Amino acid sequence: MAIFFDHNATTPLDPRVLDVMLPWLRGTHGNPSSVHGFGRDARAALDRARAQVTALVNAQPGQVIFTSGGTEADNLALRGVCSGKPAGRILVSAIEHAAVMGPAEALAAQGWQVQHLPVDSEGRVDPAALAKLLDGNVRLVSLMLANNETGVIQDVKAIAAHAHKSGALMHTDAVQAAGKISVDFPALGADLMTLSAHKLNGPRGVGALIVDRRLDIAPQIVGGGQEQGRRGGTENLAGIVGFGAAAELARLELDARRQHLHALRDRLEAGLKSIPGVRVFAAQAERLPNTVQIGVAGFDGEMVVMQLDKRGIAVSSGSACHSGSGKPSHVLLAMGVGAVSARSAVRISLGQGNTEDEVRALLAALATVAAKRSGAVALA
Ligand code: PLP
Repeated sequence: MAIFFDHNATTPLDPRVLDVMLPWLRGTHGNPSSVHGFGRDARAALDRARAQVTALVNAQPGQVIFTSGGTEADNLALRGVCSGKPAGRILVSAIEHAAVMGPAEALAAQGWQVQHLPVDSEGRVDPAALAKLLDGNVRLVSLMLANNETGVIQDVKAIAAHAHKSGALMHTDAVQAAGKISVDFPALGADLMTLSAHKLNGPRGVGALIVDRRLDIAPQIVGGGQEQGRRGGTENLAGIVGFGAAAELARLELDARRQHLHALRDRLEAGLKSIPGVRVFAAQAERLPNTVQIGVAGFDGEMVVMQLDKRGIAVSSGSACHSGSGKPSHVLLAMGVGAVSARSAVRISLGQGNTEDEVRALLAALATVAAKRSGAVALA
């Protein structure tokens, strides 16, 4: 049986979530915008899912805009805040996911001045350093709550406070944080927050932007006026219902999940210490309980991924979007890690279904692979 340690790329759909989704794929077919009974049933399901997603992050139902996923929600946040406005400055951390970097680059091409916030050697943005970069021309600051490669958690609350002092809006991509640590939208002080269902055992292809109703954002998909006119298109009801169910389970089981992941991660990190040549990146920073990014000296991360795959173990080198590109991780480079070490990166991201036996199997396989240091023995 293959072992999956790539939960930051995506998570398996919880069977309980699938059960809730199935009726909306099989026969129950109302459109939430229709006034008849079918439509009203669909609207009620949509409202329920909105309340469930809201409850996970302590937001208000009116603050949820459902989207096709985290990428669309990030695009809506950046483009929605900036489109149609006179070009100004945007501050985006140097370690953001491509879903934020992409729209930031697109805005730069439209004349916006995009500046990357540096991080320290542990992958953290320093709120005091950010404060120095702020001025009245900064329209938006975007900083992820937890990084998808290292798992490092940022002080979004302090950054948001600085941003607001200078009149900027604050966006945080909480795609990797939600469901793994407690996320409180009002307490963070962010104006916009991105979520994605498939990182918390929900379906792929559905996410949300959490944003106050009063905030002026330009819709990026216009049409039928759905989602308070902020995102047109008939809702992906089965997906949204699944997102709601996954969010509710994540909220109710958060403590148990956290404990399970912590225990596995401690076991994993203790074992990694005895494998020569292995280091844990951002080991001193506060991190998600499920994420461990390592460097394996003398190896290319892609090679380690392939060697483990041969042994039935799935990990990744960097983020799923970048693996296979051969480029070193921009996150590690931003942390000041050298290109050779950055290229040796392997990300292990644990999930609810993982067991201690699986962690033991990973450690044994890694020890075998790492023992065949490059050049010494041809890898079998
Ligand atoms: N933001 C972060 C931090 C992510 O890790 C991901 C997915 O890997 C995304 C955004 C994109 O989300 P989605 O896959 O739902 O488009």
